[in-house]
Amino acid sequence: MASSNKRIYMDNHATTPVDPRVLAVMLPYFTETFGNAASRHHPYGWEAEEAVESARAAVARIIGAQPKEIVFTSGATESNNLAIQGAARAAKDKGRHILTVRTEHKAVIDTCRFLEKSGFDVTYLPVQPNGILDLGLFEKSLKSSTILISVMMANNEIGVLQPVEKIGVLAKKRGVLFHCDAAQGVGKIPVDVEKFGIDLLSLSAHKMYGPKGVGGLYIRRKNPRVKLDPIVYGGGHEKGFRSGTLNVPGIVGLGKACELASKEMETEIPRLVQLRDDLWSRIQRQLEGVFLQGHPTKRLPGNLNLSFEGVEGESLLLSLKGLAVSSGAACTSASLEPSHVLKALGVNESLAQSSLRFGLGRFNTAEDVHFAAQEVVSTVEKLRKQASV
Ligand SMILES: *Cc1c(COP(=O)(O)O)cnc(C)c1O
Repeated sequence: MASSNKRIYMDNHATTPVDPRVLAVMLPYFTETFGNAASRHHPYGWEAEEAVESARAAVARIIGAQPKEIVFTSGATESNNLAIQGAARAAKDKGRHILTVRTEHKAVIDTCRFLEKSGFDVTYLPVQPNGILDLGLFEKSLKSSTILISVMMANNEIGVLQPVEKIGVLAKKRGVLFHCDAAQGVGKIPVDVEKFGIDLLSLSAHKMYGPKGVGGLYIRRKNPRVKLDPIVYGGGHEKGFRSGTLNVPGIVGLGKACELASKEMETEIPRLVQLRDDLWSRIQRQLEGVFLQGHPTKRLPGNLNLSFEGVEGESLLLSLKGLAVSSGAACTSASLEPSHVLKALGVNESLAQSSLRFGLGRFNTAEDVHFAAQEVVSTVEKLRKQASV
């Protein structure tokens, strides 16, 4: 079993490797084509600008938007901040209420907490035990003072997909802006801002085989109610929404990542679903006391979040030497706090502490799944035996 140096990466919700095809198109933009996209008076600038605009079109295409509706940022954290802080500030005279969900990413939750300190009123809705929002409760929680709804597309821990299309309909009916953190959605599942009725959408390159430190925010332009105050001021780049010299190589990488994901999604989704289901059935067949967290089917193709009764998650993680997965959320596991997402599902603390997040991705194979299942089963058996003596 102790197959020496084998290392399998199955933590693709934390980050993904850059696809070599993405890296290849990025490289010239560090050296030969290094111009500043804002330089108007020479070909260095023009070439950079052209590359940025073609990436903007690719990003727009994968979510069904127009290129002029995309603003480049440093990632989904910044996009979430710009969307939520920006929309709240721009609409503060119309109302002060924001509606969001307890299972959102910290980049949404903590931005809302910050706004609470400056006079905004935020409702953090609970979810059902399967992780999905109760739409009846959601609709009842909309107030006349609600200016913004922020609900994620796919959860980064339990992979659960929220009913964004229905939320979009309600948002539109009530005339409230709808922001969606789609960092785990774009590139993994079909996304269409028109069909889903989304006004603001955050995305990130490093969750879809692009580089870290670059992302985007979709800002609906056809709806005059969609107004944002910037959070970063300066040279007026990105139509004033986000000043700062553009990260041209990163943006080129994000564009290529979108292009590849669009092209390959149709075959990649069923491939990942099959690998994921195979992993789950192998583990389930060999171990008792294992529980799947989150809705069994309304979840990301590559996501599995499992709790192992009677095993301490941290020890399990440390014992799984050849397998890179996460306990709870990658962002909060440093604090050893039980995951706020599993807590919101009502999972008891000891079971929450014993949970692992598997994130299968583009470079995982059936062989990886066999290895991972074997590794998990033997490690859990070993730890349970130790605990019983
Ligand atoms: C990763 C992630 C973020 C943060 O994105 P960065 O680009 O790393 O800032 C936000 N929301 C969700 C759902 C994520 O998975």
